[in-house]
Amino acid sequence: NVPERRLSVPVLVIGTGGAGLRAAIELAERGVGVLAVGKRPKTDAHTTMAAGGINAALGTMDPEDSPLQHAADTIKESYLLAHPDTVRIVTENAERGIDDLVRYGMPFAREADGRISQRFFGAHTWRRTAFSGDYTGLEIQRTLVRRAAELAVPILDTLYITRLLVRDNVVFGAYGFDLNDGTRHVIHADAVVLATGGHTRTWRRTSSRRDENTGDTFRLAVLAGARIRDPELVQFHPSGLLDPEDAAGTLVSEAARGEGGHLRNADGERFMRRYDPERMELSTRDRVALAAFTEIRAGRGTPKGGVWLDVSHLPRETIMERLPRVHRTLLELQMLDITEKPIEIAPTAHYSMGGVRVRPEDHGTDVEGLFAIGEAASGLHGANRLGGNSLIELLVYGRITGRAAAEYSASLSAQQRSARAVEEARREIDELLARDGRENVRVLQRAVRDIMTEHAGVVRDEAGLLQGLLELDEVEERFAGLGVHPDIAGHQDLAHAFDLQGTALAARATLEAALERRETRGCHNRSDFPALDPSLRVNLVWSGPGKIDREEIPPVPDEIASLMREVDTSSHELVE
Ligand code: FAD
Repeated sequence: NVPERRLSVPVLVIGTGGAGLRAAIELAERGVGVLAVGKRPKTDAHTTMAAGGINAALGTMDPEDSPLQHAADTIKESYLLAHPDTVRIVTENAERGIDDLVRYGMPFAREADGRISQRFFGAHTWRRTAFSGDYTGLEIQRTLVRRAAELAVPILDTLYITRLLVRDNVVFGAYGFDLNDGTRHVIHADAVVLATGGHTRTWRRTSSRRDENTGDTFRLAVLAGARIRDPELVQFHPSGLLDPEDAAGTLVSEAARGEGGHLRNADGERFMRRYDPERMELSTRDRVALAAFTEIRAGRGTPKGGVWLDVSHLPRETIMERLPRVHRTLLELQMLDITEKPIEIAPTAHYSMGGVRVRPEDHGTDVEGLFAIGEAASGLHGANRLGGNSLIELLVYGRITGRAAAEYSASLSAQQRSARAVEEARREIDELLARDGRENVRVLQRAVRDIMTEHAGVVRDEAGLLQGLLELDEVEERFAGLGVHPDIAGHQDLAHAFDLQGTALAARATLEAALERRETRGCHNRSDFPALDPSLRVNLVWSGPGKIDREEIPPVPDEIASLMREVDTSSHELVE
């Protein structure tokens, strides 16, 4: 007799990061009933980790900038895989997104005369990244949490959603449990906005937090009948920490290279000389990640499997003034003083460019009433994300989708429910809780992450990807032997069992799409297909094991294409 709570609300927002909160605020501002739920404290969502900034062609520093130029830079950096309509919507509405934040009280850095300051990020033509120190994401999250509180948006941030409730391809809510006491929740809703983040914790090293970005989005969406676009397109950041284990992948800001840090292999060689002699350590993120990966693979890595990032030759004052966060992080995590010793780093999974396939105009999915936004969605970044574009996407589509969900809810004459769908969701949890085998969830999670790190990292090839799928089959067979044991401290073990299923599904989607994309494009490096194949300017849409369709991408409009010139990024600050 497990307690079950029943709730009913016009719009349910799943995810209390920047995207989910912005959508919830839009709904509340329109007077539409909304409930936002998350599986981590709202003040500590993944969005808080974003450091460097948020893009909009405000032209406060460079009046020549324009939304069209922002669009051109975005599409160019996406290696032509971004959807031009999505890009246009984001870049044209970006100023409005910043205005909204200002209206909510966001403390942007400003020039002496009051203009919002804007700085360069790699591969932008003009200075268009607004920021708040190197805590931009934290300030955005704080601002949105405060605004949601002013509007009295109800938020349950200890609720783990296990299933979307769907009848005849129409969503009618979601099912989940409370992480503290296990109380089940049936939430009926006319419309559901999925804002549950990406799948970067599918790899062993990730710049994301523990227990977020575990692929929940993929699992929830696919089981509901939606599809995933380009799961193979994952951005790897060159500098993630190797240990401690529970913080593996924690980001060392690119500012460490920007300020003059040197990268060395185990032989002490500054290896970027061989990969990008002109720009050396200031080369682009994908190139540096590829170079570090190649060094490690070639046996020139450190004993733990990384390379060295050394800032110890810089004046101590420079480090303390310009890299305080890096200095503090290394002291806290490794008791390492970077003014004296080098940092051991390796590429780390950083951002899911792929995600739920959505319509550009409102981010509706293949399931009626179901929307997806933020890192959970896809369409803006293609094969490489322009730094600073993720945060603005949250603001723009949070607003647009909030409105669309409100209109959809208002247009429904009746909500079609299904007792069977609820019963299935209920039974799924019961079955997991009944498992008393010897397999440990954490061990299996680690096994999936090892597979992905080994076979679907920065560089991929057919043999490795096929091997990865075989090994994934083997790990999945072990799921039957799981033991799931909630304890007095809460239902974390159950949550991890669901995380594991999301991670495994996201891993399969990624491996299969990576096999299918027989080319090298942006973040996706195939050593057996080292060139870009123009005929593969398509999105790969995954709807379940073995099911991938190719989808054409509309041509880039002339007025944007004409602005897509070669961009010199060498002098640009590296900050994210
Ligand atoms: P998230 O913030 O990941 O929120 C997801 C929400 O979904 C959370 O509330 C989570 O609890 C909830 N959730 C997930 N699964 C479930 C479930 N099953 N049940 C219930 N709730 C669930 N981008 C930029 O533009 N500029 C930057 O400078 C920048 N710097 C970055 C630095 C770092 C170190 C990292 C890691 C990322 C950075 N990014 C940056 C990327 C950016 O931070 C993220 O893409 C963005 O914050 C994602 O926001 P989101 O709202 O989509 O998802």
